[in-house]
Amino acid sequence: MSKKGFLDCGSSRGRSETVFLYECRDDLTAHLKNCFLSRADLKEYEVILQRAGFECLSHEQVKKLRVCPRHRYGLGKYWRPSKLCQYPGHKGTPTSVKSRDVINPAIAKEVFQLFGISVPIGSRKLETHNILKISLS
Ligand SMILES: [Zn+2]
Ligand SMILES: [Zn+2]
Repeated sequence: MSKKGFLDCGSSRGRSETVFLYECRDDLTAHLKNCFLSRADLKEYEVILQRAGFECLSHEQVKKLRVCPRHRYGLGKYWRPSKLCQYPGHKGTPTSVKSRDVINPAIAKEVFQLFGISVPIGSRKLETHNILKISLS
């Protein structure tokens, strides 16, 4: 799998520190609340997997992935969104977003289908980016 290095860079404290991604199941309630993702009911490994850009892996492939601490926490509970709109269809200069409108798992899936770009869940977007409108225009 070519993107494996994205989760397991092996740069910090060596191989023994990596764990199976599938076994990452810490409680991320507070983090998900901060990211306005509470309603999504996600497990830790699902959050990390999505933010690593793995959109279409089988269950078997997911179970083989390992993750180092740096990526586990950097993509998981210590991940912080940019203040700028991350929607791929955004035109013009980057815009600071203050709303609670974020890329949730459902929107991320639609964005990936439309643009072929994986946007980390919890990323901010302007409320005016309406997927349905874009796909019909
Ligand atoms: Zn790593
Ligand atoms: Zn935008």
